[in-house]
Amino acid sequence: MDNWSKCPRCGSNRVQKISKWIYVLTFFAGSGCLIWLGIILPFFWIFIPIFWIIAIVMLFGKDVWQCQDCKYSWKVQKVKKSNDKQESK
Ligand SMILES: [Zn+2]
Repeated sequence: MDNWSKCPRCGSNRVQKISKWIYVLTFFAGSGCLIWLGIILPFFWIFIPIFWIIAIVMLFGKDVWQCQDCKYSWKVQKVKKSNDKQESK
């Protein structure tokens, strides 16, 4: 049963695994940009802790898969322990 590796929207097999670290780093980098925006508009300071929370949640979350055909992305429902050795971290 490899349903987790197929696109749940269009059923395509052309899916790509996206490491959660990309999202974690993106949100941390985004919060860095918000600090600069917050200097101009203090309104943006509200979003900084939100970005951090999302980044921390993603840090403890699972990797995300993205479909190459419809660009739909979803989280991995199952974790295959046997495949962990193949991944470079
Ligand atoms: Zn798809």
